[in-house]
Amino acid sequence: MQCPFCRTDEDRVVDSRSIGEGNAIRRRRKCLACGKRFTTYERMEVQPRVVIKKNSTRESFSREKILAGMIKACEKRNISLHDLENQAATIEAEIFEQHDSEVSTKVIGEKVGDALKGIDHVAYVRFASVYREFKDVNAFLAELIPLVRPRIDVQDLGQPALADPPGGTSEPSGVAGALGASGS
Ligand SMILES: [Zn+2]
Repeated sequence: MQCPFCRTDEDRVVDSRSIGEGNAIRRRRKCLACGKRFTTYERMEVQPRVVIKKNSTRESFSREKILAGMIKACEKRNISLHDLENQAATIEAEIFEQHDSEVSTKVIGEKVGDALKGIDHVAYVRFASVYREFKDVNAFLAELIPLVRPRIDVQDLGQPALADPPGGTSEPSGVAGALGASGS
């Protein structure tokens, strides 16, 4: 395999594992000339899958497109390209397993959304807001709130003690009395 950095055609496989339920093999390689590492994927040669788009036009399935979409959603988030490549390869393997010839963009979008949800909530919301084409802000919030709710609940646990301090009940009448006094 030609090294993407120095173009030398000599490398050593340093790690090799199967992904997507054994449909593909991911190999980490180390270039023997420059020492840099790169990754290759080996997969079964099968008939291509066709993606049916929302407007009913068709195009050939592309893992690169899935990866590009994920990279865009994860922009400026602290997520390694390696993780995204693995996710894209897993999604591709699943689609080839579950769909014989054609697959809709809806199915692909849901898989990408699920993968992003497990990686980074901000990336997921970014992706969902484009892909789901939320009709209004309420539909968008309905998707967003369950993702942030756990954090809000944890913060709320600390609130009651502060909101109701012991002996604080006499304060309002004191303030009201002071206001009444200044008014007369
Ligand atoms: Zn090299």
